[in-house]
Amino acid sequence: MILVSSCLAGQACRYNGSSALVKEVEALIENKEAMMVCPELLGGFHTPREPAEIIKGTGMDVINGSARVVELSGKDVTDLYIDGAYKALSIAKEIKATVIVLKENSPSCGSEHIYNGAFSGARIAGEGVTTALLRKHGFVVMSEAQFETKLYWDQP
Ligand code: SF4
Repeated sequence: MILVSSCLAGQACRYNGSSALVKEVEALIENKEAMMVCPELLGGFHTPREPAEIIKGTGMDVINGSARVVELSGKDVTDLYIDGAYKALSIAKEIKATVIVLKENSPSCGSEHIYNGAFSGARIAGEGVTTALLRKHGFVVMSEAQFETKLYWDQP
C-alpha cells in the first residue's frame, strides 16, 4: 500500500484552501492502491490556516528539538507539527507503506526542499517534519515530481 499527501490526491486541505492535485496520485486512491494523509489536519489544524515555515533548520532539526515551526504571525506551532507527524507515522506503520509520496516544499511533507523560514518564497534543501520522521523510521518518501519521474521510467 502507498501513502500519499491528501492535497496531491485532490483534497483542498492546503493552508490556503487549495489542493495540489496530481492526476496520477488521485488514480492511486481511485484504484485503492493508496491511502491519503494530511499531517497538518491530523495535528489539529483547520483549512484555511496561516502559512508556517521551519525557522533555523529542517524537519529533522524540529524532530530533534533544535528548530521550531512558526506561523507568519509569529505563533509557535511546533508541537502540532510533531503531533501530526507521529500520527502520520502510525498510519504508515499500520498500512505497512511500501512507498510514500508527499507534497514538495511543505514544512510537513517536503522531501527535498522547504521554505527557508523568512516567508520570502526562498527555499533551502531539506525535508519537512513528517518526512523526516518517516525516513527516520525507515520509510521511503518521495516528492510528487520524483513519483512522476518514476512512473515515466517504469513504463513498459
Ligand atoms: Fe496536508 Fe502535507 Fe498537503 Fe500540507 S502538504 S496540505 S500537510 S498533505
